[in-house]
Formats: sequence, structure tokens, C-alpha cells
Amino acid sequence: MKRNSRAANSVAMAVLAVAAVWALRTGLDRWSAPPPVAKEPAATAAPTATALPAPVQAQPQPAVAAATAAPSPTPLPSPTATPDPVAALPEGWMLRLAKPDCPLPADFTVELAPVAGGIFDARAAGELERMLADAKAAGCELRLVCGYRDNQRQQNLYEQKKRQLEAEGMAPARAAAEAARWTPPGGCSEHNLGLGADLLPADGMDADALAWLEAHAAEYGFIQRYTESCQAHTGMAPMSWHYRYVGATAAAAITEQGVCLEEYREDLGQYGGQ
Ligand SMILES: [Zn+2]
Repeated sequence: MKRNSRAANSVAMAVLAVAAVWALRTGLDRWSAPPPVAKEPAATAAPTATALPAPVQAQPQPAVAAATAAPSPTPLPSPTATPDPVAALPEGWMLRLAKPDCPLPADFTVELAPVAGGIFDARAAGELERMLADAKAAGCELRLVCGYRDNQRQQNLYEQKKRQLEAEGMAPARAAAEAARWTPPGGCSEHNLGLGADLLPADGMDADALAWLEAHAAEYGFIQRYTESCQAHTGMAPMSWHYRYVGATAAAAITEQGVCLEEYREDLGQYGGQ
């Protein structure tokens, strides 16, 4: 009898522990604190009711709407940043990573400037503006669909995408992973860094504008960041419209060598870092 009820207890605890981890992984930032290991007898309250965020305040927003939110310190949790030798270099700010497995620290801030109807890192906004002006002068007008967006808005977009995938029938864990490949959680996007720019032809399907951008972006310090071949490094789905400011030196090297920012950083860390 005693043995049986103990076994039943263990099963119940295991179920609760799995439910709690599930709730954390699906309902919260996946990169927050490590999931709790239920060592103590679990409380009797079942965690199931709070697992999924209620969709009441979900505002239907297009995923590509321009960012207008003012910069603010993020309230979102973030794991401790890993040491980054490249960050110590003078050009370190241009080469900083922000992605699902490398989130920005919770105290990250950046000075922003308005540009082309959006917002961008103030130190790079001039180059973005110059690139858009030169593209236009060449008859290849481009539109900045999104520059900087704050962490909370990023998190909202991520959760919205995750809910959409779940509604389409994807299992929650897979939906979370897939959503992060397209629109990562707050603090994990180059748009939160202020150096990511989604650029599209001003008149829809103008292939010349895209070709101009591909051919000239590096001259202004931009690279196409989420390419097919860099997927293993970036962890992101290929997105031809997502450009990233890395500075003219890095952009030239990355483009000429056909490498990813991660690979470029590795070489730089070896020779220029500590
Ligand atoms: Zn983007």
C-alpha cells in the first residue's frame, strides 16, 4: 500500500514537473532562468491554467510594421552574457551578436536616431540614410520597413508568431523553435540592437532595387545577414530583406570572402581580441 501510494506520488510529481517545465518553455522567454528541477514535493496547485498566455490583448499587427516605440530599458529576463573578446575592440559595437542563442544583456541600451521613417542606431543611421538616398538616385528606391524595435515589441511579435503556428496545428515546443527562427524573442533580435534593417523595394516587386542593394550594400557597411548558407551560424531562417550594419571594413571582408558574421568575428577574435 505504502509502496503503491509512493509510486503514485512519484508519477504525479513527474507529471507536474513536466507541466511546469512545459509552461516555462512555452509561456515565457525560453532563455530565461534554467527550468526548475522539482526536488521538493511539488505544490498541489497544478500549473496548467497559466501555461498559455490569453490571447485577449493580442493586437493584430502586421509583422513588418515600422517601429515607433521609444527606447526603454528592457524588463525582460536575460541570461548572463558570455565573454566576448570582439566586444572589447573599437568596432565591437558594429559586430555585436543578438540572436536566440546569444541574447543582449538586460541592461543593453543604444542611442537611436530617426531615419527614413524608422529608427536606427544613431552611429549608423547616417550610412543607412546615404544608402537609401543613393539607391533612389540610381532609380532603385528602397523602403525601410523596420529598423530598431524595442524588446517588448519583439517579444510580442514572437509570441504572436508562436500562437499562429500553434493555431495551424504545430506542437507548442516546435512552434516556439520555429517562431524564434523568424522573429526571435525580445532581446534576441538584431532589430533590438538597432543595427538590423528590413529593406524592400518601394514599389513592391522591383527586382532592380533588390539587385542594387545586393551589389552596393557593403559600400555602406551593410551585409545581407540571414542567408541560406549562414543558417547554421545564425539559427535564423533565410530572409533576403534583412540587412545588418557591420561597418564598411567588415562588410567588405564578409561580402568578398562569402563568410558569415560569426566566422568573421571568430577570425577577428583570434587576431584582434584578447
Ligand atoms: Zn529583420
